[in-house]
Order: sequence, then structure tokens, then C-alpha cells
Amino acid sequence: MERAVPAAIDPWVLVYDGFNPEQEGLREALCALGNGLFVTRGAAEEADADGVHYPGTYHAGGYNRLTSEIAGHTVVNEDLVNFPNWLPIRVDAEDGESPLFATDALLLYRQELHLRDGVLLRRYRVRDAQGRVTAVESRRLVSMFSPHHAAIQYTVTPENWSGTLRIRAELDGSVTNTGVPRYRQLATHHLRLLNSGGVAPEGCYLVVETNHSRIQVALAARTRIFRDDQHAEAERRMIGERTSRVGEELRAHVGAGESIRIEKVVAIYSSRDRGIAEPGTEARLAIADAPDFHVLLERHRTAWLALWRRYDIEIGTPGSTALAREQLILRLHIFHLLQTISQHTVDLDVGAPARGLHGEAYRGHVFWDELFIFPFFNFRTPVITRSLLLYRYYRLDAARDLARAAGYSGAMYPWQSSSDGREATQQLHLNPLSGLWGPDYSHLQRHVNGAIVYNLWRYWQVTGDLGFLLHYGAEMMLEIARFWASIAHFNAQRGRYEIHGVMGPDEYHEHYPDSQSGGVNNNAYTNVLAVWCLMRALDMIDIVGQSRRAELIAHVGLDEHELRRWDDISHRMFIPFHGDRIISQFEGFELLEEFDWEGYRARYGNIERLDRILRAENDSTDHYQVCKQADVNMLFYLFEKDQLRGLFERLGYAFDDTLIQRNISYYMQRTAHGSTLSRMVFASMIHELDCNEGCRLFFDALRSDVDDVQKGTTAEGIHLGAMAGTVAIVLHRYAGFHLDARGPAFLPDVPERLEHLRFRVHWQTRWLDVDLTPDRLRITADQDQPEPIPVRVRHQPFAVLPGATVEVALR
Ligand code: BGC
Repeated sequence: MERAVPAAIDPWVLVYDGFNPEQEGLREALCALGNGLFVTRGAAEEADADGVHYPGTYHAGGYNRLTSEIAGHTVVNEDLVNFPNWLPIRVDAEDGESPLFATDALLLYRQELHLRDGVLLRRYRVRDAQGRVTAVESRRLVSMFSPHHAAIQYTVTPENWSGTLRIRAELDGSVTNTGVPRYRQLATHHLRLLNSGGVAPEGCYLVVETNHSRIQVALAARTRIFRDDQHAEAERRMIGERTSRVGEELRAHVGAGESIRIEKVVAIYSSRDRGIAEPGTEARLAIADAPDFHVLLERHRTAWLALWRRYDIEIGTPGSTALAREQLILRLHIFHLLQTISQHTVDLDVGAPARGLHGEAYRGHVFWDELFIFPFFNFRTPVITRSLLLYRYYRLDAARDLARAAGYSGAMYPWQSSSDGREATQQLHLNPLSGLWGPDYSHLQRHVNGAIVYNLWRYWQVTGDLGFLLHYGAEMMLEIARFWASIAHFNAQRGRYEIHGVMGPDEYHEHYPDSQSGGVNNNAYTNVLAVWCLMRALDMIDIVGQSRRAELIAHVGLDEHELRRWDDISHRMFIPFHGDRIISQFEGFELLEEFDWEGYRARYGNIERLDRILRAENDSTDHYQVCKQADVNMLFYLFEKDQLRGLFERLGYAFDDTLIQRNISYYMQRTAHGSTLSRMVFASMIHELDCNEGCRLFFDALRSDVDDVQKGTTAEGIHLGAMAGTVAIVLHRYAGFHLDARGPAFLPDVPERLEHLRFRVHWQTRWLDVDLTPDRLRITADQDQPEPIPVRVRHQPFAVLPGATVEVALR
């Protein structure tokens, strides 16, 4: 196969040269295109799911529940559904013996994801069994401008032959959910056909419905042929009418060296969309007056330009190529965040799915990962965060039910959330190494409730949106506080409150060795977070004012006794310690065996998924001092030192200056980084202690998805939390950027390796340009700002006047 000479890295273009079947799934996930309403994997137009390719299109909130019988158990799962594939385009020579596209006959193959424009380009040359060489170039977009449109421009050039081309442009509703091999034993058929047929004069349509949630999705496609930029007539006929795979077959003659351009424009609507009558009608109408590809492309590009103007972060000296790859990856992370969640997501009643809308891993569920994702939107488009928080508010009753069913009061949000806020975590877990199913206790991660309050509070601090707090946030905070107060019990011997039977973020400890019941006692992260939630709930009661306070207390039926108990818990919660002021991840962590890290590294190489390795050896991570990811250390990630000091001292625990450092290094030595969140969290925390080591970990964390460090998981869906977390490191740690009601604040500490940072931030409808080097910080307010913006740099106040620049020397 011809290979292009490797060019310098363009920090706006992700390039793959050559075809690599093993890497195809990864490329599909990383080259997915979307607009916050739906995302389509970067699968080839010519391919079906075949073990190498896996076309997938996922709609925000497009879930469906199915029941499976497995290993003698009835298992109910709610999945993010793979909706019809709108991509298929297949072109053959009419008299050919084999299809034109065959991966073993490729002379050249190149794929480019253009981040600035939001376009996926595929280029290949192929030789068929008869020696005919054909060049193909496809360009694809999922419109960020008009979110119900997607389009492909597919250009075919027979290089050394002429003849009639047979072109099939289809919509495929026969797809199933088989993207994750370990889920394939479970039920996979989510869709039923409602209707399909032709749309005069040049298209087809397909309407499907999920078989439980009854979400309808309608697609209409229009296919046109162009020669020399002129719309050309073609002989056409319908194929697959009234079946799940419907389309048109077109025939066109083409001479050697001549190009023919096929344009497939698609309109996609779902019954979950806002402002529509019925998806089928909308899709047909939207395709009838859809513009041609180049117009769609121009508008789409304009929408992306506006997004990049807000969200781009530049690293490295302008003009230098030293950090081109890191810059590209950082942009790729921003790109996928914006494709998963955008202004088109607002009011859709969805949360932030941990694995994007890019694959079927974790079934598209919403976890605590929102904690890492929300800051990304808070600083530029807080209306998006507000909508994501409302997703939780609308599931408050389900959380109340969940608390009641578990014997608690208040509201207990589920570890995994999907359509209706019921606990969506599976009860059984398959270990792919041993092939055995076992109980899954991960739903005991009650700390997700702390993450929800943290997100709410941060949103309120950044925006000062009192209306949101009054009407939605306050009720959630009170009910969650109530849950924490009810899961905590008083241990009279210790004179302290305790929380038993939970899991921390470290999923390698589901229970004590030899214990039959799930969970551990006094997970330090959970206990401290619970205290913080109780304190914020008490603060909030003061913030909302007398009359709302009275209404709220009446509405949720709170009494003064409960409030006193919250205050008491917030002074007397137990935190376990051992050794030299090491915070024990949970009570008894230090009694577990030390692990033979060297021996296992020597035997297995990559030991990030120690849980699977040990289970396959009939052993368990529960026995050892091994952590999947940051747990105790999440405290240092979320809270500033002085805040933590205040919390610990309120609880009557000493907090000396070396506590953070000692705990980070203790747990760093015991962490396998089995979650992509882990390296990112450590990179963020370590920055302050050791800037070079922090930067090394940051570069490592950047690689998580693009290099698929977990060997196969990215193909099943990107890791949105880790992606957002890397962006946050640049903003919060390196630029030291923080936002609250008083305005933006900076405590810059740029690692020398990053050289230079440029980005924009938003505060209460006002925009600032930030330009930062290790030596100086320059802040410029937009010209159209109505008033000066109050900023603080290293605690010193400045007012940035409209259109003016403030420059502060940093050393
Ligand atoms: C991590 C969790 C995370 C989940 C979804 C798991 O592997 O351990 O912390 O919430 O993935 O991203």
C-alpha cells in the first residue's frame, strides 16, 4: 500500500495513514462526529458491523430496557440504543465481480478528522479483481448548525477504466447493540421497524421505534449525483422498501479519469426532540428543503468556528511545533466534549454520559464523572450545566424511592443513571479474563450524591443563579443532606458518626476479605464529602431567604431536630487514619496485604486492570492495598488546602502542612490507574507538589484515549471524564483559573514545558482573552463589554476595562 510521507503534525487534524483492522474500532470512536443531539461513529460508509467495523449512531437520552436470561439469572439492562445507520454508500462497477471496496485490495488509505471544521475525510484507492483502479474521497459532517442534518459527499474516480457505476445509498435500521463483546450474550435487539419507503423525487425514509421505551427515530435521505459541479440526472430505483434497510440504487456512466460526486443528505428526528409534531413528518420535510452539501458545510463550519472561539485552549509558543501532538490531543478532547454535549443538548433532559455517545460501553449511563465534566461548561456556557443539573432534579423522586427502598430517608441518587433515574448498575458482572459472572457491588458508591451537590454548588458559585438554587437546587441539596444524615449512624464508643457498607471511587474494594456483604466502612472520601454536603445544605438554608426557607422546610417536611443533627454530624464524623497521619481509604485498609507490584508487572506487563487479573487467578483485589484510582486523593483534587483544613479542624482532626504530600505519595505507590480518571486526577494534584512530575502525568493522561492505553476500551466509547479533566488541568492548575461571584481569579503556575497558554473565559455574559506565559499574564476584555470586569491575579484586584488589556508580571 502507498503511504504518504509523514508530515509535521497539524494540531487541528487527527490523521491515520493506512488501514489497520485492529485499530478500526478505536479510530471509529475517535473520529465520531456529533452535535450534542446525536453522535455517529467514524465507520466507513461501505461497512456493516463485521467484527472489524462497527457503525453506531447514538442519540442523547436514547435508552431502552431489555430483559435477558443469562447463567440462570434474569438480567434487566437499560442501554443507549444503536439507532439506524445513516452512512451506507456502496459503489460497484455494474459488470464487476466483486465490490469495489475491499480492505485487502487497498492501494492507499487515509483518514483525517478536521477538528476546526468538524469534518471527517476518508481517501482511498483500490484495485479490484479485474485490475481496475478507483479513487474515492468522502467528506462527512453532522451539522452543528442545524442539528437534524448530516451529510456525506462521496467522490468516485475510476482511474484506468470506464463503465457504469451502481450506487447504493441506504438507511439501515437492522442494526443491533453488539459493540461491546462482553455484552453480546445479553439481549441486543432494541428496534422495530415502523415504516420505510421512498420520498419523491430522490430519496427514502425509515422510521423505527425502540421496543420498550417507544422512542421513535425517523430518518430521511436524499441522494444526488453531480458531474463537474452540475446536478446530473441518474437512473434510480428503490431498494428494500418496507424493510429495515431501505435505500435507492442509482446508475451512472463514468469515463476513465472522470469524477462523479454523490451527495447524501440526511435528516434525523426523534420523538424526544423539542418543538416537533411527529418525527417522520419532520424528517421528510427537513430533507425536502435541505440545502446541498457545500451550503450545509459552510454553515456547519461557521458554527464550529464560534465554538472554537469560546472553547479553544492553545498551548505552546505560537509558531513552534514542539507541542503539536499535545495540542492536537487537547483539541480532540474539547471537540468530543462539544460533540457529546452542546447547546443542542439543552432541555433534552439528559445527563453527561461517561463514555460519550461514541459507543456502547457502560450502556451510555451517567456516573459521578459529571464532576469532571461540568467545569468545562460552567466557564463558557453555564446554560448547558444548568440543563444537565435539571436532569438530576427531574429524577429526585426516583432518588427518594431509592433511598426509601434501601432503608434511608431523603434522596439517594443511583450510581448509574439512565432514563428514569432508577439504579441502572448491573447486578452481575462478567470477568472477560475468567469468563465468570459474579456479583457487582459498585452501586454502593454513594459518593455520587456528593458529586451532585458539588456540581450544584459550583454552578451556583460560578453563575450566582439564585433562581435555579431556589427552585431546584435547594430541594435536591436538602434531600441529599437528609440521606447522608440517615446513612450515618452514631457510634457511642467512639463518640463519632460513621458510614458503613459503601464503596469509594476505588472499585477494587467491593467488600472486606472473606465478608459476604458488599461495601466497606468509613470510606474517608465519602465521609468527608457527606460532611461537606451537610454544611452546604445548612448554608443554603440561609442563602435562600426567610420565606423560601419556610416553604422549603414545609415542602420537604424538615424539622429543627434534623437540622441540629446535620450540624452535629458535620462536627463529629469519623475519619480513619493510620501510620504517620495517613488517611485510611477506609477503616482497615492498612491491615490488607501489601501487593507484589514488581512481581505482577514482570509477569503481566500492564497491570492496570488488576481486578480482572486477580479474579482470573481466583484471587481478588479486595485482599490487598491496591487502588484502582484516586480515592482519598479525590479530597485534594476537589478541595483547596484551606478548605480541607477547615473541614478537618471542624471535625477535630489535625491537618498539618505535610498531610497532603504524605497521602498523595502513599496512595500513588498503591494505585494501578485502572480507570482513565486516575492519572488525570493525580496529574492535577501533584502539580503543586512537583510541577515536572505533574506535567509528565498530564502528558500521560492526554494519551489515555488517543493511544487507547487500556487496550480496547476506547473503541467501546471515549472517556469523557478524563478528557474534560485534562482540559481542567490546564485551566485550573496551570492558569490557576477560578470563578466565583466576585469574578475571575488567577493563580498562574505554568509548567515551563507548556511555554504559553491562550484561552477565553466567560463570567456573567462577559468575555475575557487570557494569554499566559511563565513570566506574565495578559488579560483582555472584549470591546463590547458594558462594564469593567473585576479580576484577581494572585489575590490582587484589577479592573479590566472594555477593550483594554491588563498585564501582570509573574516573576
Ligand atoms: C471508574 C468509575 C467511573 C466509570 C465510568 C469506571 O471504570 O472506576 O469511577 O465512574 O468507569 O467512567
